[in-house]
Amino acid sequence: MSDHTNDPLKRVEDQLKKCVKCGACRQNCPAFTAFQREPAVARGKVALAQHILKDDITLDDQTYQAMSKCLLCGSCVEKCPNDVPTDEIVIAAREALAQKRGLTTFHAAVGQVIKSRTRMKMGAKMASVLGPLFFKKVPETSGLRLRFPLPFVGNERHIPAVTNKPFMDRYPEVSTGAPGKPRIVFFVGCMTNFCYPDVGEAAMALFKHLGCTVIIPKGQQCCGLPGMSGGDIATVRELAVKNLAEMERYEADYVMSACATCGGALHRLYPLVIGKRNSELRARLDALAKKTVDASQLLHQLGLKPGETGSGMPGRVTYHDPCHLRTRGLTRQPRELLKSTPGIELVEMEGADRCCGLGGTFNVYHYGSSMNINEAKSRAIIETGADAVATGCPGCMMQLSDGLKQHGSAVEVVHTLQLLARNVAR
Ligand code: SF4
Ligand code: SF4
Repeated sequence: MSDHTNDPLKRVEDQLKKCVKCGACRQNCPAFTAFQREPAVARGKVALAQHILKDDITLDDQTYQAMSKCLLCGSCVEKCPNDVPTDEIVIAAREALAQKRGLTTFHAAVGQVIKSRTRMKMGAKMASVLGPLFFKKVPETSGLRLRFPLPFVGNERHIPAVTNKPFMDRYPEVSTGAPGKPRIVFFVGCMTNFCYPDVGEAAMALFKHLGCTVIIPKGQQCCGLPGMSGGDIATVRELAVKNLAEMERYEADYVMSACATCGGALHRLYPLVIGKRNSELRARLDALAKKTVDASQLLHQLGLKPGETGSGMPGRVTYHDPCHLRTRGLTRQPRELLKSTPGIELVEMEGADRCCGLGGTFNVYHYGSSMNINEAKSRAIIETGADAVATGCPGCMMQLSDGLKQHGSAVEVVHTLQLLARNVAR
């Protein structure tokens, strides 16, 4: 029997006992939709985690694969009558497996990239320069498609172009606003920085319009979420500590993110992975979590008034709830902001609250299943007859674009902030 003292599953031992195997968590589980097998659903993962903790199961590839089939979307947690936090259990089980078996080559490589800002910047530079060799522009869109298949990137896949000028290089660390107005620290995130700088530009335009001081600490790193998929929690902890120190460098009223995933990391994941092991660090992370807000939540709270022009608006817009906003209860604010904007008619899609299928590196590691999950989402968007789909997560934007383009759809994929900013003078 193994030594359980440092077993991450000990953290959730009491939670594991709460599962009564009722199966209510099957409903809306995207992993179950894709794989149609018990180990994919929360109940199966809880049972598997119990065996890993008891050390009475062989930790082979099958065990590893079963635990990798989860998008950490939190839908099962919302459905569970006994409040079993399956997402926390999966995170702990993945960490336990990584400790016992090591990381896969893929996940070890992901860890090496996300924990080095320099490596990320170099990679982005190379991608923006060499991109045209490997990718062709998809006609009439800003997306790219591979010229030939590469490992982990099928040639049917559409991905966003990498900018040759990352968002964080475009602004000084402090953009001073009007006296007495809120001071906001902006946690930018890698997708906004390298692939969707227009989302960052929209955030700057909106918060400057409200007179806010916006601070972009230049030493901020990846939030670490991509490390979760393979159980590389050591990297997530390292990034949590570095980002905490960066966010604390300035006195601010809010720490704001326009990326649901990054905001979710600051808000919930960091305190979770640090646990109770270091009470001083945990207290600082709890304080950071309390200050963390989503951009749409803050704009709503600060009373952003819709502009009057309505110009450049797509017309009919539908909204997709990113999992990391939905699980924080942030579903009303983006809708109300969109509804109050002239030139926008908000139409609801079927299953707006369902996961788009991205799930961090799930989308790379299980690409086919990720797109199977996305199928219902793409169809639901198209069925609304909307001209555009808005959302609050650059990761979801990438996934929605890929799905829609594979359907030959011309529906525009935008961040909510991009639509709101069209009505704001710069
Ligand atoms: S995780 Fe919750 S919903 Fe799923 S089987 Fe266990 S008790 Fe039921
Ligand atoms: S977190 Fe989402 S994908 Fe994972 S088991 Fe729960 S419902 Fe399924």
